[in-house]
Amino acid sequence: MGDYDFDVGIIGGGPAGSTMASYLAKAGISCAVFEKELFEREHVGESLVPATTPVLLDIGVMDKIEKANFPRKFGAAWTSADSGPEDKMGFQGLDHDFRAAEILFNERQQEGVDRDFTFHVDRGKFDRILLEHAGSLGAKVFQGVEVADVDFVKPGDVRLNVKLGNQKVGIRTRMVVDASGRHVLLGRRLGLREKDPVFNQFAIHAWFDNFDRRSATRNPDKVDYIFIHFLPLTNTWVWQIPITETITSIGVVTQKQNYTKSGLSYDDFFWEAVKTRENLYDALKASEQVRPFKKEADYSYGMKEVCGDSFVLVGDAARFVDPIFSSGVSVALNSARIASKDIIAAVRNNDFGKASFAEYEGMIRNGIKNWYEFITLYYRLNILFTAFVQDPRYRLDVLQLLQGDVYSGERLKVLDKMHEIVATVESDPDHLWHKYLGDMQVPTAEPAF
Ligand SMILES: Cc1cc2nc3c(=O)[nH]c(=O)nc-3n(C[C@H](O)[C@H](O)[C@H](O)COP(=O)(O)OP(=O)(O)OC[C@H]3O[C@@H](n4cnc5c(N)ncnc54)[C@H](O)[C@@H]3O)c2cc1C
Repeated sequence: MGDYDFDVGIIGGGPAGSTMASYLAKAGISCAVFEKELFEREHVGESLVPATTPVLLDIGVMDKIEKANFPRKFGAAWTSADSGPEDKMGFQGLDHDFRAAEILFNERQQEGVDRDFTFHVDRGKFDRILLEHAGSLGAKVFQGVEVADVDFVKPGDVRLNVKLGNQKVGIRTRMVVDASGRHVLLGRRLGLREKDPVFNQFAIHAWFDNFDRRSATRNPDKVDYIFIHFLPLTNTWVWQIPITETITSIGVVTQKQNYTKSGLSYDDFFWEAVKTRENLYDALKASEQVRPFKKEADYSYGMKEVCGDSFVLVGDAARFVDPIFSSGVSVALNSARIASKDIIAAVRNNDFGKASFAEYEGMIRNGIKNWYEFITLYYRLNILFTAFVQDPRYRLDVLQLLQGDVYSGERLKVLDKMHEIVATVESDPDHLWHKYLGDMQVPTAEPAF
């Protein structure tokens, strides 16, 4: 290794950083993770999709995850503002039950997935297990050590300036992986971050003990699913995620402008929003809030580049859209999986030019594009989503997206069909679905990132 402390320096020990470290360490590449927090620390993003399973198996951490007894997640369900027997919202022109949709993961075989469930996780515990696992495979893990800046000396020679108390220490590496999550350290440092043209989301969330998970569903036997409850407010919904037997994570997601216009405090906005679903509100009020409200704002962005000479961005440091389909951790794990192949080859070939990471760039952009289009189509006409889930012609294709199975490099044809229908509805003001169009536009041009 000569003058270098490590071949690869990894900024951040969340799921993307620790998974990257595990893959590299397994391949015998010297790497170090610098994580500014001391684990366990709280983190949003608690419901997984099955596309995480092949990665957890691959890096050999699944047994440890199983032992942690996280609640098993067999499926996902969506409920609408009117979950009663009558249609109070006056939906017309729908020959499907728009009020609820649900999917079971085992309805579709997924390559590399050996079980019919995934997990809901306490991210404090989950992220610690992954990071310790990377350490057990030989990665060097520094907790409580923040990377302040990165100097690109020349390709194959990168200095990470880390904070040790009041001191800054330079760590010499051959390349850097930015896994700093929504801190997007390199994205900011290199001017790569672009605000998303469509989304400007905002979320407020907390944990509640003894919340009755059956309160807003007509399917009380499915309470171990993730529930997405729509509110009768523009582009606003609530997540309901089991964390333990009795603790449930509840979050309200809305457009930032809805929050700003309300003039309310975070807490009051949460309660006012939830009040629009009476059963949910009553059940929450009857439970005990065990964590203070936390907000997540301005989290939708992309990057002009996801790699370059001597650097690769993975997980949220590369891109984040919207959490409606619980895609974030699966993107973190899969981006690390895919990028690690190029990085291992780059180290072995001693070639850290951007072209060494081309395969990663192509695959991750395609995968995330599938998610992005699905999410924007969903917000544009969400009754189309429930229609497709319930239509046997499209159900399995939609399930493929909901499983997070988006990295084959193939364009998912169901998206073209959805685009076609949205275009028809948009162009015909008399279409019975026209009035259900949302105010977020599906971008017509390719996003620049
Ligand atoms: C409202 C909301 C709801 C969500 N719900 C879900 C969900 O249900 N399911 C899901 O899969 N995803 C969800 N997500 C997304 C999920 O939170 C992220 O996609 C996931 O955490 C990304 O992992 P990561 O490793 O890239 O980043 P992170 O998990 O954020 O990890 C980054 C790490 O880097 C460290 N770090 C940052 N800067 C530095 C620095 N300079 N030096 C050293 N360390 C640093 C941080 O401390 C952190 O530990 C949600 C996101 C939001 C905003």
